[in-house]
Amino acid sequence: MPIIASNFKTNHTRKTTKEYIEKLNNYLKNSSIKNEVLVFPTSTSFDSFYTVSSLEIGAQNAYCTNNGSFTGEIGLEQLEEFNIKTILIGHSERRHILSESQEDIAKKYEFYKQQGFKIVYCIGEPLEVKNQGLEKILEYIFEQFIGIDINYSNLILAYEPVWAIGTGVTATNEDIEKIHSAIKEKISKPLLYGGSVKVENVRDICQIANVDGALIGTASWKVEDFIQIIENTKDLK
Ligand code: PEP
Repeated sequence: MPIIASNFKTNHTRKTTKEYIEKLNNYLKNSSIKNEVLVFPTSTSFDSFYTVSSLEIGAQNAYCTNNGSFTGEIGLEQLEEFNIKTILIGHSERRHILSESQEDIAKKYEFYKQQGFKIVYCIGEPLEVKNQGLEKILEYIFEQFIGIDINYSNLILAYEPVWAIGTGVTATNEDIEKIHSAIKEKISKPLLYGGSVKVENVRDICQIANVDGALIGTASWKVEDFIQIIENTKDLK
């Protein structure tokens, strides 16, 4: 059963997040969906949501601290208030726009691993690396595992080529298959694909060998579309 995840990024308010989660939860409850569904809203929209067990709310980011003086950040204490136990780490927007280094990312990973969080760990190459061919792509991707315990039991990986995120350009099925199988050969963890996945292509993508689900940004922000994405994959193994 594919794992289907929605990354809200900097979208939705407290009010619209609540409406989204209620609609999604009702759908999951009424249609007995077995997919593992993850939603990463903004941290200002966290709340004590009532959700079915297949739906988990996660954090897009948090600092590696219980609490303290880290202006603008949230830590474990703020996540625990809402029983959040899932976190996205290494997203390309945090690596490339917000300048998180591999060292910062590895520290964050270690901290939330120690807390037993489910970690969705993102990896992926920018366009200039893609243009250098498969060998360089894999070299770049495996460097993103420096300092990362790949044997952590609560780890999900997401391969997200940077040039495919939010651009409407998806990697070809052939490229996805090649890269996913190369990653899986070394790391035997659930591996999602992300990068312009949408209602129309999610089923095909989730049927590629070694693709265990999808991490979706833009096309998941309307709850009706996200529900359709789940509908389109619910019978897949
Ligand atoms: C993402 O942000 O993880 C993502 C895959 O975005 P999009 O679906 O918009 O490409």
